[in-house]
Amino acid sequence: MDQFYYDGGMTTANRLEQFGESVFATWSRIAIENDAINLGQGFPDFDAPEFVKEAAIKAIRDGENQYSRSAGHPLLVQAIADTFEFPVDPMEEVTVSCGSTESISNVILGIINPGDEVIVIEPFYDSYTACLAMVGATVKMVTLHAPNFTLDEVELRAAFTDKTKMIIINTPHNPTGRVFTKEELSLIAELAIKHNALVLSDEVYDKLVLSGKHIPIATLPEMQQRTITLRSLGKVFSVTGWKIGWAVAPPQLTEGIRCAHQFTTFCAATPLQVAAATALRAPKSYYDSYTEEYRQRRDLLVEGLLAVGFNVHSPEGTYFVLADHTPFGFEDDISFCHHLAKQCKVVGIPPSAFYAQSNDGQGLVRFAFCKGLETLKTAVQRLQSLG
Ligand code: GLN
Repeated sequence: MDQFYYDGGMTTANRLEQFGESVFATWSRIAIENDAINLGQGFPDFDAPEFVKEAAIKAIRDGENQYSRSAGHPLLVQAIADTFEFPVDPMEEVTVSCGSTESISNVILGIINPGDEVIVIEPFYDSYTACLAMVGATVKMVTLHAPNFTLDEVELRAAFTDKTKMIIINTPHNPTGRVFTKEELSLIAELAIKHNALVLSDEVYDKLVLSGKHIPIATLPEMQQRTITLRSLGKVFSVTGWKIGWAVAPPQLTEGIRCAHQFTTFCAATPLQVAAATALRAPKSYYDSYTEEYRQRRDLLVEGLLAVGFNVHSPEGTYFVLADHTPFGFEDDISFCHHLAKQCKVVGIPPSAFYAQSNDGQGLVRFAFCKGLETLKTAVQRLQSLG
């Protein structure tokens, strides 16, 4: 067999060497190996609604099986524009991608030059820093400090310079579960305008606001012209494997995004785009019961974690809870998560992968609650052996 292997050593490009395997892939594998309940990678363990699945099957039967328009199927871009809180031109300002992870890459590859300064708020979604490394951006990190994870005005102001090209924000925020307040967003907007910077606003959990109110930063004065808003289908219709996301931005910003997109994937899966257009036109009652079910899941997990002995704040949004595991006396998040997987048969994500500057992640663990109530009850029972 040996002759089939390339013998030139590891070939990973220097710019990606520090990254290794995504924490989500690692811990989903560990969950399978240990036959553990996977509260790590965020994907539902229940199926998508029938009307969404039927729409995809129908689109395939109807012959929607070739490449779509690169920037998105006309039916879908129109449906997306109709969901926005501000006027969006479907043909000029929407770019559909293979999940928002591709949009993150499209925005960074399409707009950022080597050496441009980009502000990232940690803990962060891991692909931001990997994509920034691919283009050779200079990253300025601003930490949301535990236990409240609010934005520190002094630290944010200090991160902005005249070289700042972009700030990446995420609200509702993965992994802390915070929903940024009007004050925090106004501060970001003030600084972005002052320094003529762009804002990449990752809002893929916009329909998962469980308490408080989601404010799209593009709706603040003078912000629409400098904001790229990312949203997606996977969370709200329990179809994370469909990989349908979109970037909404003014035409000047959309040009670079579309240029990167056409040479990355060209277009997302056509029948799934057509089905997504149907899904997005779901009645308000769908969204209401979706949020209500997630409140129940959140409350069950948070109450269970508190009873076991974690310190935890109930998340305002997303389907993640970030819990403080230090009462159990483990050295760090990775040793804690290995213990959980092996001894309790429950997998969580060690959040140090979401930090580049602070050590805060070592005392924390992220659990996903996009799971059936029975799964969550069993997980909580299994965690009782920690106490
Ligand atoms: N967004 C998902 C999470 O935070 C993971 C997505 C992925 O695996 N790339 O769990």
